[in-house]
Amino acid sequence: MKNLFADIIVANTNVDRPFTYLIPMNLRDKVTPGCPVLIEFGKLTKKGYIIDIKEESDVDISKLKYIKDIENGELSTDENLLRLAIWIKHRYGVTFDKAISTVMPVKSNVEEKTTNEIFLNQDIGEDILKELTKKRKVAWVRLLKELKKTESLPQSYVNKELKVNSATIKRMAEEGYIKVGNKQRKSNPLLPILKSLGVEDFNEIQATNEYILNEEQKLAVDIFKKDFDSGNKNTYLLHGITGSGKTLVFINMIKYVISKGLQAIVLIPEISLTYQTVLRMAEHFKDRVAIINSKLSKNERFYQFDRIKNGDADVIIGPRSAIFAPVKRLGLIVIDEEHDSAYKNENVPTFNVRDVAGKLANIAGASLLLASATPTPETYNRAVTGEIKLLELKERAKNTSLPKVSIVDMRDELKMGNRSIFSNKLKTLIEDRLRKHEQVMLFMNRRGYSSFVSCRSCGEAIKCKHCDVTMTLHNNNKLVCHYCGYSIDLPKVCPSCGSRYIANFGTGTQKLEAMTREVFPSAKVLRMDTDSVSKKNSANDMIRDFARGDADILIGTQMIVKGHDFDNVTLVGIMAADTSLYVSNYNSAQRTFELLTQAAGRAGRAKSGEAVIQTYKPENYAIVAAAAQDYKKYFENEIAYRKLGGYPPVCHMLTVMFSSIREEELNKCATAIVNTLKSDNIFKNSVIIGPTDPSVVKVKDYYRKLVYIKNANYDILLDIQKKIEEGLGSYRNVGAVYDFN
Ligand code: ADP
Ligand code: ZN
Ligand code: ZN
Repeated sequence: MKNLFADIIVANTNVDRPFTYLIPMNLRDKVTPGCPVLIEFGKLTKKGYIIDIKEESDVDISKLKYIKDIENGELSTDENLLRLAIWIKHRYGVTFDKAISTVMPVKSNVEEKTTNEIFLNQDIGEDILKELTKKRKVAWVRLLKELKKTESLPQSYVNKELKVNSATIKRMAEEGYIKVGNKQRKSNPLLPILKSLGVEDFNEIQATNEYILNEEQKLAVDIFKKDFDSGNKNTYLLHGITGSGKTLVFINMIKYVISKGLQAIVLIPEISLTYQTVLRMAEHFKDRVAIINSKLSKNERFYQFDRIKNGDADVIIGPRSAIFAPVKRLGLIVIDEEHDSAYKNENVPTFNVRDVAGKLANIAGASLLLASATPTPETYNRAVTGEIKLLELKERAKNTSLPKVSIVDMRDELKMGNRSIFSNKLKTLIEDRLRKHEQVMLFMNRRGYSSFVSCRSCGEAIKCKHCDVTMTLHNNNKLVCHYCGYSIDLPKVCPSCGSRYIANFGTGTQKLEAMTREVFPSAKVLRMDTDSVSKKNSANDMIRDFARGDADILIGTQMIVKGHDFDNVTLVGIMAADTSLYVSNYNSAQRTFELLTQAAGRAGRAKSGEAVIQTYKPENYAIVAAAAQDYKKYFENEIAYRKLGGYPPVCHMLTVMFSSIREEELNKCATAIVNTLKSDNIFKNSVIIGPTDPSVVKVKDYYRKLVYIKNANYDILLDIQKKIEEGLGSYRNVGAVYDFN
């Protein structure tokens, strides 16, 4: 018989190329591209991934080794994902190994053969956990905590992963905390996940409201169906105002795809913040849903992936990483709230999942739907140019209109002698709602907060006199420009108007809470931010309490503006609308518009509502357009600004962060590399900015320098990346991290 060869990427090495191995007879029928295998590499046995199988090889056969075995207990990556990994490697300039481990988030399973299964034997409350912690029974607490999250755990998992030994398990069973039994097939795979979302009873979610699609919704679904039937696998932007019923639209599209025997992936920004969407999906698709959630134990995660692989789930819901779920018959990918920054992978490779999803849809022959009330200018621009299809929902689904939004100029308030955090208008409206027993949400924009200084009289933020960017506050007494390094002492009066009322935007949610209680002593106030959520109870609990009417006023950060539907909220106050404008980043206006629109959109979901935007920059286009709830107006301004500045989508941008323990070598290296790039002819159409200081110069003893490179041609940026890598070769102590767009 003829020989068969496999090209293999060796895991956990820096050698970034495939090696050829022979496939032994006994494995011929078992290996496929994407299969994890064991090979001899150097003198060691290593894991690798087959990326290609072929009948010919130009390498001398006598020099080749055989694959030793298939790595058992690991899911093999399917071919689509492998092709995606190869694309990721080239697109983001990472190694094969990195690219493959990116698409394979589930590393190992826990033995399936186990017969022993561990169950909770009694309700374990915080008091019991506390008591055990006091007795220093760390392993006990660890196991009980894991068990609380799920129904049961296999003993092998408890032994190996949780490192709780069998003697301990025996003692715990004897004392009645747990019992050891046989594994039962879980009756409903959703239960443990729903439990982690705060739903105790599956029946709770079964009351489905079967709404009839309204005309706009129906039109959107029909366009999709027609394309789908004629074999056009398009990318769509579903642009619908807040409350227009986008979810129902894509649920119907998914139903259609399922009726054709295919599966769908639905990406959501963050599961705990969008649990209403998850519940709605569960209502419709019941136990044909698989949910990927960072809160899942390793075991549950593997179980979900296994169900997906076996085709036991039609709809896979999860955050960013769910795009790599091993779906066999992919028909549709939905990215809900496509503008959300959670879709950007902050680690290397720094992809935005939109782009990866686009490629995967293309590889798998699937459609892609991007849904948002405030799409990114990049995506909207693709719709404007006709590259992708635009589906629009212009009306709210329930018979309510958009909230009435007004802008209050806080500089005027100060002039009138009102130094309170509440404008007169907002204060009057809150009092009115409290009287009517309607609810209020107060949103505090945290992005960029307290890192810059601005004037409460004239609204100006203090800028660098050499560059047009806001200066950043360091250690509360120095202002530094991150573009040129210019620094000044924190001034006592405003450089523009001489006012003494200059301050950093240090009013956090805690302070807002205290002031709210002071001004509205009769109101019940609830605060939701990262602090209060981690300290007290989960985000879901708070949201449920508020929805139930347990509080009059909900105060919060970004957390409260996402996707929640509160019927009794008729007023939204936006406290410091402009903080996000001063972040020196090309998408600061976008973030501001997005947050304001989403926040204002929380008002009047069922009854008619109102929103008040308090700002020192009432003339800014992002704020004006958000108040008018006019996306197109915003987009026109935004795209003009992006053109002027040469920012994406007009231009591509590569951000390079150099870092080193040795400051001097870092500076020398970054400067030398930038100079080489500037003098190189093929890069002459690139704009190169830097090296400059990032907002945090030193992290964990590593000094850092930033360089921005802009070019209309993405491939040139990839070339530049290669050049930089070459340049780094002569600086042993300097590393670089690349971020595209
Ligand atoms: P969006 O995601 O566009 O902001 P949602 O999908 O959350 O909007 O829908 C807003 C509200 O309107 C939800 O309570 C939803 O149940 C309801 N809804 C959606 N479609 C319809 C419809 N066709 N008829 C009645 N109510 C609807
Ligand atoms: Zn001033
Ligand atoms: Zn400057």
